[in-house]
Amino acid sequence: MRRTLIAGNWKMNGSLATNAALLSEIIAGMPVAPSRDVVVCAPFPYLAQCADTLAGTVVSLGAQDVSVHAQGAFTGDVSASMLSDFSCGYVIVGHSERRAYHAEDDALVAQKVLRVLDLNMTPILCVGEMLEQRESGQTNEVVAAQLNAVLDVLTSDHLSRLVVAYEPVWAIGTGKTATPQMAQDVHAFLRQQIAAKSSDSAELVQIVYGGSMKPDNANELLQMPDIDGGLIGGAALKAVDFLAIIAAV
Ligand code: PEP
Repeated sequence: MRRTLIAGNWKMNGSLATNAALLSEIIAGMPVAPSRDVVVCAPFPYLAQCADTLAGTVVSLGAQDVSVHAQGAFTGDVSASMLSDFSCGYVIVGHSERRAYHAEDDALVAQKVLRVLDLNMTPILCVGEMLEQRESGQTNEVVAAQLNAVLDVLTSDHLSRLVVAYEPVWAIGTGKTATPQMAQDVHAFLRQQIAAKSSDSAELVQIVYGGSMKPDNANELLQMPDIDGGLIGGAALKAVDFLAIIAAV
């Protein structure tokens, strides 16, 4: 039985003051022993603040990107070991905003996933099609290429520790959501792709949905058999909304 994972992606939002307020509301509203894994992925400069605030709570910390390099002359980059030093358990890799604005390709994303796994953190690998790709019937082809570029470099031990986020690009930050059935179809397809490498791992890998998930659509999405949680952008910045998604059945 896979646990549900609810991960907040704060993107480039926040300040010391607003983070403190948001985290204290989230922590106060969390069940003592949640049945779900809950993560907040904060911007790099606030990882120390968030690590201190979340220590000893049921909320885990994540980062939003990682360098493909281990260390050295890579000005502005942040390595996996640095993230690990600040208690990150999760790292978002290959978010569509990184792919679009920083020209990250599948090969680079695959190497980043390896870096994260090597440091015993969990990569949240984002895959998803653009609107014109969906409209021209290419969704499965696009997400398969993105996922398989990563699966091809992973060992079977790595594979069971992967989290995949299906994030249709046209649904991110737009208020448009894939219908539960549309999302379920892609999640089931992604699980089949993983099963082609290892059927045991396919049963373990959490595949979460991202793209305008909100309190009012979380229930139906999370009820689908292959949707194991959510990667939440906008709604993760409001404690009441994030907590409502965590509590959705
Ligand atoms: C995201 O950025 O990963 C995301 C899903 O954003 P939103 O929930 O705002 O669509």
